Amino acid sequence: MTTVRLTTAATKLARKGHPWFFSDDLATDAPQGDAKIVRLAGHRGEDLGLAFYSAASRLRVRRCGGWPGAAVPGPEEFFRERLTEACAQRAEQRAPEPRGVRLVHGDADGLPGLVVDRYADCLVLQSSAAVIERHLSCIVPWLREHTGAVSVLARNDLPTRRREGMPEEVRLLDGKRVEEVVIEELGIRHRVRPFAGHKTGFYLDQRLARQRVQELAAGRRVLDLFSYQGAFSLAALRGGASSALAIDQSAPALERASAAAAENGLVGLEVECAEVFAWLRTARRAERRFDLVVLDPPAFAKSRGEAEAALAGYRDLNRLALRLLAPGGYLLSCSCSHHVSGVQLEGVVRQAAAELPFRIILRERIPAAPDHPIWVSLPQSEYLKVLLLQRPCVVPEPPRP
Ligand code: SAH
Repeated sequence: MTTVRLTTAATKLARKGHPWFFSDDLATDAPQGDAKIVRLAGHRGEDLGLAFYSAASRLRVRRCGGWPGAAVPGPEEFFRERLTEACAQRAEQRAPEPRGVRLVHGDADGLPGLVVDRYADCLVLQSSAAVIERHLSCIVPWLREHTGAVSVLARNDLPTRRREGMPEEVRLLDGKRVEEVVIEELGIRHRVRPFAGHKTGFYLDQRLARQRVQELAAGRRVLDLFSYQGAFSLAALRGGASSALAIDQSAPALERASAAAAENGLVGLEVECAEVFAWLRTARRAERRFDLVVLDPPAFAKSRGEAEAALAGYRDLNRLALRLLAPGGYLLSCSCSHHVSGVQLEGVVRQAAAELPFRIILRERIPAAPDHPIWVSLPQSEYLKVLLLQRPCVVPEPPRP
C-alpha cells in the first residue's frame, strides 16, 4: 500500500479542507513511479482519506474523499464505487433531461480530472489527471455497461493536459463513431456534435439560466450575445419572445442556430455574424433597445495572470450591454472564467452600472445546473457565475389633481 505524507504546513491546510497539493507540500519520502490512488496522511501519520497521486505532475496530489479501513482499494473497486455514486446523485436530483446530462463533474464527484457528459446514447469523456488516464480500462467498460451507451469518446483537446505530460487528442474510446446526436432541453431539440462541438458538444452547465430566460421571455425583444448555436435564443423564442437576435463571430455556429430554429418550428430568430465588442459600440451609437439581453462570453481569463485584463473586458461588455436595456429590461450576465470570482464579477457590474443614468437591480444569482455540483472545498468548482440584472420600469407619475 502506498501512503503519501504531507508537510506540517500542508497538513494544516488539509484540515481546513484544502483539496490539492504540490511538490513542496509533500514530505521527502514521496514515491516515484506510475500515477496511482494512494492514502494521504498528515505529518503525524493521521489518515486524510484517498488521493490521486502523480509524481510527474505539477499538481501532485488531488484528494478524492474518505474510504473505510486503512487500505487502498483496487482501481476496479474504487471507480465502481465513485461512478455508482455519481450516477445515483444525478438520479436523485432527477436530472430532468436524462439524455443530456453531466454524469461526472471531476473533483466534486470524488473523481479529480474526470468529466463525463451523456448525450443520448453517446458518452463524452474528458480526462485531465494521469490516474484517470491510466485506468480508462476500468472506467469506460463500467460506463458503457451502466448507461447502455453505444459510443464513448475522449474530448481531450484540453491545454491543461500538456502540463500533465499527456497529449491533446480527440479519439473514439469504445463503440461506434457517432458524429451527431439529438438531445432535448426545455422542449427544444438540439443537435450536438460530440467530436466537433465546443467543449464536449454543448453547454449543459447553463440549463438553469436558459430555463430562466425561457420563463422571462414572453413578449420581449431578446439579444443573445456570444450565441454559439443559439441555445439561449431558442429558449427565449420557445418562451414567447417577440424576436431574438443572435450575435456570434462564427458563421457556422449561426447557421446551426437558424437550422435549429426551423427544425423546432420557432419563428423570429435573426442572426448576425459580428465581433461582439464592435457590434455593441455600433448598437450604442444607434441607440438600440432590447428587453432581455444575454451576455455569455467565453472564458476571458485562461490563467490567473490574465484575470486583470479579463475583468476589463467584462467591464466593457457589461457597460455596453446595460445601456441597451429598455425600461423593465433584463441583462443575464455570465462569466465562466475559473480565475474570476462571483464577487469580482459583481464588482465589475457595479462599476459598469455606476456610469448609467438609471438604476440597476441585482435580481438573482443563478448557479450552474445541479449536475455540475459545487464542492465547497474547491471554490474553482463554482466556475460559472450568472447574474440576472434588471433596469426597473419607470412608473408614470399619477396625474396631478
Ligand atoms: N451562449 C452559448 C455559449 C457561448 S460560447 C450557449 O449557451 O450555447 C462562446 C461563443 O462566443 C462562441 O460561439 C464563439 O464563437 C463566440 N465568440 C468568442 N469571442 C467572440 C467575439 N469577440 N465576438 C463574437 N463572438 C465571439
